[in-house]
Amino acid sequence: MEPPLDRSTIWAYEDGEPGKFYYARNAHPTGAEAERALGELDGGTALLFASGTAASTAVVLALLEPGQTVALAHDAYYGTGATFAELERWGLRHVLFDQAGPPPPDADLVWVEAPSNPLLSMPNFDAAAEHPSPALCDATAATPVHLRPLEHGCDLVLHSATKYLAGHHDVLAGAVVCRSPEDAARLRDFRTRTGGVASPDAAWLLLRGLKTLRVRVERQSDTAGQLAERLAGHPRVTTVRYPGFGGLLSFDVADGRAARAVETSTRLIVNATSLGGVASTIESRHRWEPERVPPGLLRLSVGLEPVEDLSADLERALATL
Ligand code: PLP
Repeated sequence: MEPPLDRSTIWAYEDGEPGKFYYARNAHPTGAEAERALGELDGGTALLFASGTAASTAVVLALLEPGQTVALAHDAYYGTGATFAELERWGLRHVLFDQAGPPPPDADLVWVEAPSNPLLSMPNFDAAAEHPSPALCDATAATPVHLRPLEHGCDLVLHSATKYLAGHHDVLAGAVVCRSPEDAARLRDFRTRTGGVASPDAAWLLLRGLKTLRVRVERQSDTAGQLAERLAGHPRVTTVRYPGFGGLLSFDVADGRAARAVETSTRLIVNATSLGGVASTIESRHRWEPERVPPGLLRLSVGLEPVEDLSADLERALATL
């Protein structure tokens, strides 16, 4: 009933010829099983990578040519822009755009994020799909429970599986889900040639995480919705950003000092980066992306703790201001 964890890196040839599995950099049974499960959830062909960032790198290097341009939602995960900037010297160009509107006409790949981390904006899927070039949606924060971007006209879906898909802050992995078998074949080839594969252990933990994805995310969404409402009524909170679904929200307090006081005063909610785990995490994002987010912004990833406990923890932390 449980999928076996096969850590082999080689499998014997069959009658002197490589079979479906022969060397783990190309494919391994545990990874293939996780890809089948994720492909089903998103309605396409899934490929696992060593991290979300490895998946992003593979998409632009495998599917674009040097000199081509990615139009990136300006509030997409800051690390995605940093990855693209790193690849600039290899000929990748990127421009930023407001994902609420149409992407720039001359883009060769449109890259949106649903919802964006940590400003929680949503893309205009119609405008992205109308663009003549392929569109990718990073749906890390939405998960297939809330959003299947291939059904909204996107060609590719990207996940940091490190977050909700695996769900327990103990796996680093990424995934791309492709509408077209040609893109999937190209990405698979690129992955084999460049080696950014997910390990069997990561794939196995991801499979385990996927079994509880729906119940986790539904509960996290329910709790996050309640917390967003309560925070919006709090006198020390100036802005709350919540798209109406999912376990991720952000809110602002007066300034950087206030944000520091809140993030270091919670006891139940862990002051740590990342998101999507069963344990709630909170952090000031200004330390990582000072040009883009206000100094008082706190990102809260809601876990599975009881809503009243989380609410009391936030109240206590906000009371220190
Ligand atoms: N996309 C989003 C929306 C993210 O939040 C992250 C990580 O925080 C990534 C991609 C990158 O994923 P990873 O950390 O697995 O490389």
